[in-house]
Amino acid sequence: MPVTLSELLKRSDELATVSDTSRLDTEVLLCHVLGKNRTFLYTWPEQLLSTSQQNQFQTLFNRRLKGEPIAHLTGTREFWSLSLNVSSATLIPRPDTELLVELALGLSLAEQAAVLDLGTGTGAIALALASEKPHWNICAVDAVAEAVALADENRRQLGFDNVRVFQSDWFSELNGQTFDLVISNPPYISASDDHLQQGDVRFEPGSALVADEAGFADLSTIISNANLHLSLGGWLILEHGYEQGDEVRQMMSLAGFSRVATHTDLAGLDRATIGHKA
Ligand code: GLN
Repeated sequence: MPVTLSELLKRSDELATVSDTSRLDTEVLLCHVLGKNRTFLYTWPEQLLSTSQQNQFQTLFNRRLKGEPIAHLTGTREFWSLSLNVSSATLIPRPDTELLVELALGLSLAEQAAVLDLGTGTGAIALALASEKPHWNICAVDAVAEAVALADENRRQLGFDNVRVFQSDWFSELNGQTFDLVISNPPYISASDDHLQQGDVRFEPGSALVADEAGFADLSTIISNANLHLSLGGWLILEHGYEQGDEVRQMMSLAGFSRVATHTDLAGLDRATIGHKA
């Protein structure tokens, strides 16, 4: 039986147990199925869906009911106003990570600065920086081959030719190379964190989320190796958990960084720490 958009929108309540944004989720799925924007839904509430559109919507809606992230269902997520392809191979970009982009853009780096994004995932940070700074030379690396392929596909789709994406386990393939900025959103969640059993993160790979040593292992690896890969006057910017600020500042100071400072995210929580190689 044919159904209208407004009838399907009413079904959003069914998602209330799995999502805090059930209405928006339903709208996004409908837009995805129809290939239209949200204005369309409200302008044409009596529009009927074809049988195949209805089936497609039902399949996606059922998957959402099982908790799958909206970004995995539509295959995309916006970051810094760029539309990025996402997959289950890596983290879904978070709005909080835009703080790192803002911090990087606030530095007065050379016109053609060399920048390294470690653990790039979808390429979010590197590509956002490339969109703002077409003359920066940006390397984006990830240890996971599927993430490298995904980030490179996003780079190609956006048409940025100042980003090079390749496989590297942190600095493993960067011997002898130095940068004016090293930036990273590494895994920083402790394996015992309850948060891993909730919401979207259940569908994201542990390799992008979880780190040993109560979440500090990768932060610590990056901090202790960054010095070798930063030029004099270079900067290190790291995302971390909201309770990790003190320790990250301490690690950076011990590693010889100066002007170490932590910045807060959209929720006012400690989220990123910056340090300078003087
Ligand atoms: N901020 C993310 C979360 O809490 C984790 C990101 C990360 O581990 N790098 O879900």
